[in-house]
Amino acid sequence: MWKKTAMFWLAAGLVLGACGSTAEEAGTSSTEQTANANDAQTTDNATENGESQTTQDPNSQAEETDSANSGENTDSKAEKDATAENEETSAEKADDSSEDSAAASEEIAIEYHMNANYDIVPNEGTDVPKKVVLLTFDDGPKEADMINSLIDTLDKHDAKAIFFVNGYRVKANPDLLKLIHDRGGIIGNHSYDHIILKKESDAEIKKQMEDTQAIVEETIGEAPHFFRPPNGAGNDYTRVVAAENNMLHMNWSVGSLDWVNQNDSQAVIDNVFDQLHSGSNILMHELPWTVEALDDLLTQLEAKGYSFVDPRAIDTTKQP
Ligand SMILES: [Zn+2]
Repeated sequence: MWKKTAMFWLAAGLVLGACGSTAEEAGTSSTEQTANANDAQTTDNATENGESQTTQDPNSQAEETDSANSGENTDSKAEKDATAENEETSAEKADDSSEDSAAASEEIAIEYHMNANYDIVPNEGTDVPKKVVLLTFDDGPKEADMINSLIDTLDKHDAKAIFFVNGYRVKANPDLLKLIHDRGGIIGNHSYDHIILKKESDAEIKKQMEDTQAIVEETIGEAPHFFRPPNGAGNDYTRVVAAENNMLHMNWSVGSLDWVNQNDSQAVIDNVFDQLHSGSNILMHELPWTVEALDDLLTQLEAKGYSFVDPRAIDTTKQP
């Protein structure tokens, strides 16, 4: 029964995956034309740091290269996971999920909030490190190998991260979302189709955001508490819908530029260090060179005295 369902999702995913990338390309090119129009976002840190500079969607280049195979190479994996899942739900004893159950029972105090620059800062009256960074990975879930490697590295450094996912990718690969969740990744909402939301009608914006909430909740049993609009291109209404759905609406304050400097893991590290400051909200993507860079990046951040804020310690009700 699970197997059958998984096969259905995979088939649906292949179709949707194709549609998704078309939508994305269309969205990207039209953003370029309107990037500097009366848009509050252009004054954001986010656009200064990254995306509009290159007039390039942070994901489009990268996604084009891997969206094609993201549906197929997980085929056998999906079935395997699906079988494992039945046992896990009752006992939650599988190797990877033992950590998850430990994390679930762990009480995480809310000691940080996000400021208007998208930096993560200590709440007043708390005695927690100010010199922290928030790690985020956008545009997945794509491939089990990349996800496992990212989380192996995070585990090695005792770090947690937000994985901002697209609904269409979750639909294509629900097992990959479960993998992130079971291994302790925090899931964020990055819209369904990775389109430029501020150009869409309110009804479409709501659908993009809430359909993603729904599919994530269906898949892992809980809906995200973080929202990041594709390209940092949100508007007043994305903020309203985020609040209605109990999500903290964020862009980022440090762009790794991993969508620009492709195949260059050293550049990912250099770009972060060029912009690094206390509370840095670091934008990265599920991309091979970022996967490769992560261990060195985290080691060097620690060497400079930074620690990694647990996303669950951030007050998601406090919208700046
Ligand atoms: Zn994105």
